[in-house]
Amino acid sequence: MPVPVARSLAHAAPRSYWLDQAGTPEPLPALAGNVTADLAVVGGGFTGLWTALLARERDPSRDVVLLEARTVGWAASGRNGGFCSASLTHGLANGLERFPGELPLLERLGEENLREIAETVGEHDIDCDFSLTGELSVATAPWQLEGAAEYAAAARALGQDVEVLDAAAVRGELDSPSFVGGLRHAGGNALVEPGRLAWGLRRACLDAGVRIYESTPVQSLTSAGAGLGLRAPYGSVRARQVALGTGVHRPLLRRIANYVVPVWDYVLMTEPLSAAQLASLGWRDRRGASDMGNQFHYFRLTRDNRILWGGYDAVYYNGGRTHDELVSRPATFAALASHFFAMFPQLEGVSFTHAWGGVIDTCSRFCAFFGTAHAGRLAYAAGYTGLGVGASRFGAQVMLDLLAGADTERTRLAMVRSKPVPFPPEPLRSAVIQLTRSSLARADRNEGRRDAWLRLLDRIGLGYDS
Ligand SMILES: Cc1cc2nc3c(=O)[nH]c(=O)nc-3n(C[C@H](O)[C@H](O)[C@H](O)COP(=O)(O)OP(=O)(O)OC[C@H]3O[C@@H](n4cnc5c(N)ncnc54)[C@H](O)[C@@H]3O)c2cc1C
Repeated sequence: MPVPVARSLAHAAPRSYWLDQAGTPEPLPALAGNVTADLAVVGGGFTGLWTALLARERDPSRDVVLLEARTVGWAASGRNGGFCSASLTHGLANGLERFPGELPLLERLGEENLREIAETVGEHDIDCDFSLTGELSVATAPWQLEGAAEYAAAARALGQDVEVLDAAAVRGELDSPSFVGGLRHAGGNALVEPGRLAWGLRRACLDAGVRIYESTPVQSLTSAGAGLGLRAPYGSVRARQVALGTGVHRPLLRRIANYVVPVWDYVLMTEPLSAAQLASLGWRDRRGASDMGNQFHYFRLTRDNRILWGGYDAVYYNGGRTHDELVSRPATFAALASHFFAMFPQLEGVSFTHAWGGVIDTCSRFCAFFGTAHAGRLAYAAGYTGLGVGASRFGAQVMLDLLAGADTERTRLAMVRSKPVPFPPEPLRSAVIQLTRSSLARADRNEGRRDAWLRLLDRIGLGYDS
């Protein structure tokens, strides 16, 4: 590892910057004893928090409990890049590929969802630096711009304000000698501080009368008369209905495990930039940004002018390992740091204060799937694949619609009624995922040329194109 890169990382704390903040809420007590509820929500990430809050908003008389294995927001919801996108389909390109017919509706529902997130943040006075910045996609090689004009035209046809930028224009938005062009999305994305958003939603839930139990891993789920029974180490819940927002963690419903795999994603956070360093970037409008490779980086400013820099090296540990020590991966941190200084040489000498990883609930269609079980008394939503900060609220709405047995715009969607292609069992699962990862890396090195494996995945509708 080059010495300047090692130096930049030497003092980085191996934990999420977003959760390493003043104002971390006091943990709530674990469930002790047996309780009843109309609705039990399992999981205190964004999916579970939105489900509990919206359940109370829809019906204030509904008795809601939320059970979280550790503390609210500790998992993906408190570790991500904080890009809160309107897209429900992991971007427009993936939506066009998978749900072309209903994309106008999906985009409208996504825009509404983002607007309602902003309203909730305002109503509950959640201090999470929510700002509608839009987004910048930057190309670092000419091949990445192939199809950019068609993409922009498709986006404009859906009413979005998207513009193709040449090298000078993109460097006018954010300056790097690596940029050869890009796309500017004027809307469709907000930046948030995800840890504070999770804590704010937790407070909003408590204010709305949701009973939250932290340090309460649900160990089993069974039918119990007309309802369902949930067992935790020191107590149990008997609930009329259950909503699972358990992400990629060991599911209480076995079938979910066929559709999601845990992919680790790693992130660095710099120290606050000086005024001169910030000026050297010319970061107009503070738009969140990402580059356009298959293995892409995402980057953004924080309210105190740090840069969050993550992505690139999506890692699947064979067998789907997720233990806590994997939060730190020095080889990936070193690669990320050297890419950072290559992209922004004007920031030489900047240090990283935090370096961490988190697990992404990846499914084969790269956007959420939904379902019910136990005769409609249980609903689940998972599989956001790296774009769930905003979409998790939509997932919550879908679960509540499904539990209500309601026929809505949402429940009629093909995206809601269909499932992704399941992953094969191990060890084939590991082999297929590692082959796909190395093929994507090779495509980036070969001007985007996709090898036989990626072309096969494209043909059968499983291709990944960032
Ligand atoms: C590094 C990283 C960067 C990302 N960047 C972005 C981004 O910029 N924009 C974006 O939109 N998305 C991003 N994502 C994805 C986004 O964070 C997730 O899609 C989203 O947070 C998913 O929320 P969730 O509530 O479904 O899952 P989680 O946040 O994983 O929450 C699930 C919760 O369920 C709990 N749980 C599980 N099982 C049980 C049980 N049996 N009993 C009790 N509790 C249980 C867990 O403890 C956990 O708290 C990123 C993810 C990572 C890891």
